[in-house]
Amino acid sequence: MTWSLRTRLTFSYVLVALLCVLMVSALANGVLESSFRRYVRESQDRQVQQVVTQIGAQYAAGGGFGAAAGGFGAAAGGWDDAGLTAIGMSALEQGMIVKVADLDGRTIWDATVHNNGLCVQMITHMAQNMASRYPNWRGSYTENAYPARSSFANVGVVTVGYYGPFFMNDQELAFINSLNLLLLWVTLAAMAIAVLIGSFSARRITVPLARVALATQRIAQGQRDVIIGEKTRVPELDGIASSVNDLSRALRDQEALRRRLTADMAHELRTPLATLQSHLEALIDGVWQPDPARLAGLHEEILRINRLVTTLEQLAHFEGNAAGLNRCVTDIGALVSGVVRNHEPQFREKGVALRFAPVTEDSHGVSPTLAVDPDKLSQAVINLLSNALKYTPPGGAVEVCVDTRPSGTEIRVADTGVGIDPQDIPRVFERFYRADNSRSRATGGAGIGLSIARAIVESHGGTISAVSQPGRGSEFLITLPPAPARQTS
Ligand code: ADP
Repeated sequence: MTWSLRTRLTFSYVLVALLCVLMVSALANGVLESSFRRYVRESQDRQVQQVVTQIGAQYAAGGGFGAAAGGFGAAAGGWDDAGLTAIGMSALEQGMIVKVADLDGRTIWDATVHNNGLCVQMITHMAQNMASRYPNWRGSYTENAYPARSSFANVGVVTVGYYGPFFMNDQELAFINSLNLLLLWVTLAAMAIAVLIGSFSARRITVPLARVALATQRIAQGQRDVIIGEKTRVPELDGIASSVNDLSRALRDQEALRRRLTADMAHELRTPLATLQSHLEALIDGVWQPDPARLAGLHEEILRINRLVTTLEQLAHFEGNAAGLNRCVTDIGALVSGVVRNHEPQFREKGVALRFAPVTEDSHGVSPTLAVDPDKLSQAVINLLSNALKYTPPGGAVEVCVDTRPSGTEIRVADTGVGIDPQDIPRVFERFYRADNSRSRATGGAGIGLSIARAIVESHGGTISAVSQPGRGSEFLITLPPAPARQTS
């Protein structure tokens, strides 16, 4: 059976409330019941004693038929039938059947003789009371005899019978029943409150969750402007909403990037394709002869398309293959200096000075060694170096250095080129992003070189960043963590 979160939460609240109330009720009921039983027993004993005392006192005050009849009594005084009747009937109303006998055992007064019907009725009533309260109660009519004392002398025997071992009269029964009723009402009220609080609390969770579900559905349907604005004051729920908002923004940015990629790709491909098309049409129409120079031109355009496709393949390879590094302990200074050496001719050709500072004084002249994938790391440095060459006009300079710092090994490529606009810096590492400075066909990149460099550096657990002053130059910094070298060397 599937229950909604709201039903589940409400049900949990009700269950907890019910358990608490039942436990408290059971405890209270147990304690109250036993105290009340003790109270009933004690008050019953007191009543019996009271009746016995009253009968003794009645003898002392009497001088009635006992004295006149030759003095049944051993002490002064005598039995008074009216007085005994008053005491006996009052005791009968309280559930006690009284019999009075003199010292010789002769019956002076007997409730069963006086009003047997009422006695039977009273005992039956008490039995019913107890059975209604305690269905398994095993009570029975019980009699106890007590000496009746008048002025310190025994004057007779009072026998008190009742439904034992103890009984509850109507008021006592009503009291204990009303307590139980009260507990029942408390239970019902607690459950009603639990339902209210439970469903209110559940709403506070389910409504924001439903909002998040709706937002994700809309994102899945392709909407890219979905933002959850409402705050819940529940940090976890606000966290989910803000993650969905981040996701929505990231997807929107990705979407924009994808659109720009498509446009850029179309733009990059259109020029060589258009050239190819027009040149081939001219050849087919016989306007041009297929001489080696024209064929070489066509070949150059095909190479351009090929380079673009290769770059795309490279990006897919580096981004998708981050885990597949071929690490080996490598002298980073030697690796970077090799890359610099290979690029010297191109720099010389363009008239850009290239300088390599193997290791700075901070690293005490010792070249750092790290477990890296040398081919991939070389590729990252090559990309930075070719950008530096691309965006530095003739007469400028590029400096490359390797450094060891507590934070890790740094590779720095600084140029005195055109620089990057501050607003472009956070985006230059994105795929196919090209700042305005590179939009001209002269520099001709596809906006992939830095994405590849970042993918390579991040797969090594490192970071890559850029600082720049437009018109004065840029500096790119790769930082590689020291840990992998120590672990694998
Ligand atoms: P591209 O192939 O266009 O150079 P990259 O991913 O290598 O692509 O670089 C992205 C963008 O960053 C470039 O188009 C350029 O605008 C900017 N950029 C990168 N390196 C430099 C640099 N050294 N000087 C100035 N701008 C740079």
